[in-house]
Amino acid sequence: MTITRKLLIIAATFLAAFLFIGNADAKSGKQKALVVSGQNNHNWEVSHKVIKLILDNSGLFETDIVLTAPAGGDMSGFHPDFSAYDVVVLDYNGDRWPAETDAAFMEYVNNGGGIIVYHAADNAFSGWEEFNKVIALGGWEGRTEKSGPYYYLVDGKPVLDTTPGPGGSHGEQREYPMNARNAKHPIVKGLPEVWMHAQDEMYDRMRGPANIKDLLYSGFAIESRGGSGREEPLVFTVDYGKARIFHIMIGHCGPTAEENPAMQCAGFQTLLLRGAEWAATGKVKQPVPSDFPTASAVSLRPDYTVPAK
Ligand code: ZN
Repeated sequence: MTITRKLLIIAATFLAAFLFIGNADAKSGKQKALVVSGQNNHNWEVSHKVIKLILDNSGLFETDIVLTAPAGGDMSGFHPDFSAYDVVVLDYNGDRWPAETDAAFMEYVNNGGGIIVYHAADNAFSGWEEFNKVIALGGWEGRTEKSGPYYYLVDGKPVLDTTPGPGGSHGEQREYPMNARNAKHPIVKGLPEVWMHAQDEMYDRMRGPANIKDLLYSGFAIESRGGSGREEPLVFTVDYGKARIFHIMIGHCGPTAEENPAMQCAGFQTLLLRGAEWAATGKVKQPVPSDFPTASAVSLRPDYTVPAK
């Protein structure tokens, strides 16, 4: 090997190290994801594994899982290293974390971390003021007008409604159209304006600080099916400092990975993957998959894997 060649290799190595940003694995180029679970009023035993399957099967992420103690258990040992990850997926609704873990989480957020708030993770921690700014809207767990206004759309425009009342409800599970609200956002770009989501709950009457940055999708909560009768925010990003926060309210977990239509929906999986890439990197490079749902037809992806074509 000539000296010039050696120097070139050294220079290339330096350049590679310089270009390395965030926690992405230097060899694989995959983004590092952490799923936080362990307590939930939902079937977290299935959901956290399915989220890992969706992320890892895409080839874009390397996903770790961290579980808390069971409900009522000793939480003192729960100290995940959030800072080691490009994106943290919250699949948790349960007991408060230790104060140091709250602080480490907020440090990660304030340092511009990537967060996904998945489904009932927005039920969590109704009394933790800063966490509620991270999720923008939440439901249940004693939320009322004190938590912030209701947020819904009238004629496509956001309404902040301070009417007193509980936060969080949903009608019966059904298939429903997802209405895009921001075609230019990297997560939404290229996806159909309307697509049919597989059977799922539709959260409505959610309340909170309502610091939504970009509303990406909404859905109409039909009153005759137990809904609010309003156009409800379902997928959005949150305005919180440098953090990239993706909040996805859809994706109620079924009893098993096999009987799990809301998470098997190719639309849900696509949004989760695009939201995770955006939260990790600020960009979305994934193409629109060939099995994406249409305005009238649901599309299930039971193997949680993006089709090759
Ligand atoms: Zn649910």
